Formats: sequence, structure tokens, C-alpha cells
Amino acid sequence: RPLIGVLALQGDVREHVATLRALDCDAVPVRRPEELAALHGIVLPGGESTTMSRLLATFELLEPLRARLADGLPAYGSCAGMILLADKVLDGRPDQHQLGGIDMIVRRNAFGRQVDSFEEDLAFAGLDDGPVHAVFIRAPWVESVGPDVEILAAVPDSPEAGAAAGRIVAVRQGAAMATAFHPELTGDRRVHRLFVETVRGL
Ligand code: GLN
Repeated sequence: RPLIGVLALQGDVREHVATLRALDCDAVPVRRPEELAALHGIVLPGGESTTMSRLLATFELLEPLRARLADGLPAYGSCAGMILLADKVLDGRPDQHQLGGIDMIVRRNAFGRQVDSFEEDLAFAGLDDGPVHAVFIRAPWVESVGPDVEILAAVPDSPEAGAAAGRIVAVRQGAAMATAFHPELTGDRRVHRLFVETVRGL
């Protein structure tokens, strides 16, 4: 069974742990640098990316985790986790640290103040058995991606989507995957299963 860590400094850790366990993984909350070595993959949950990045530095995880990611540790980031995995962030705080790993520019809180949360059914590459119901909570979107990034999902054009129509909200580069939304909140395990398949495939 793969051992998958869930970064547990802040955010919705429990839901990811439960989803991974339901997919026959050993899932553990991770807070200390020594815990990284044994992992086969890591999930970076939603929460507040600025807070999480500060805590990464405080807990002395920033450099060791960057090093593990650069070394190919599979990672899945949701929402704030997507922000952490972006090589570059727009509308971040000046002191916000990036783990990086995905060649993309992400805009923080992109969906706008008046639309704090938003739900939409999305076609998701690799999941051909029906759309993913995506829950966005003060979510980022992806402004642009580099040539090696695979786009997995974008917001479809609809009257409700407004300015979000067409925006990229799920990506993958190598063993790193990110979604702007929160599949751990809906009971649909397919996005996590895709990530676990990456982990098992290595
Ligand atoms: N707005 C948050 C941030 O900037 C992300 C929100 C979330 O993870 N649900 O980190």
C-alpha cells in the first residue's frame, strides 16, 4: 500500500486523509521534515496559502519539501495547495513562499470577492465516466501554463460562469497534479484515484 502524506499545518486535512484511506492507501498527516522521507506521495490541502507558506517556513519544511518535490515525489494540491505548487502567483502576499513544481501562473482568489464560492460540473481529462462536480471556495485559477503542463479541466462557458468561463482549473505536470477546487468535499474519489494511480505507477 502506498504511503501518502497530507500536509497538516492548516486546512482541510481530515477529508483528504479519509478519501485516501478509502482508496486503500496508508494516509498520514505530515508536520515534520523527518516524516517526508518515507512518503510515496503528498497531498497539499486547501486552506489559506499565505498562512500555510508561513507555517512551512516555521516548521522547517519549506526546503526539505521543495527538495522532495524537485526529486519527483508525486504531489496533489487542491486550492491553496494548487497555489503552493505554482511556480508563480499573482495577487499573493509579498512574503508568500512557493513550493513550485508546476510551470504555471496562478491567480489567487481569482473568482472575485462577490463570488466567494461557486460550483460547476466539469469535464475532466482521464475521467470519462461523467463530469466532476467542482466546489470552488475562494479559489485560484490558472492564468497560463508552460509547454509541459497538461490541462485536465477548465470552467465551461455558461451564464453563471461569467468571467471564469474558459479558465483552467486542473492541471498536471509529471507527477504533480493540482485542482483549484475541492474534490475531497463531494464524496467523488475519482480525482484522488487519478493521483493514487500516479503514485502506484512509479
Ligand atoms: N484563498 C485561499 C488562498 O489564497 C485558498 C482557498 C482554499 O484553499 N479554499 O490560499
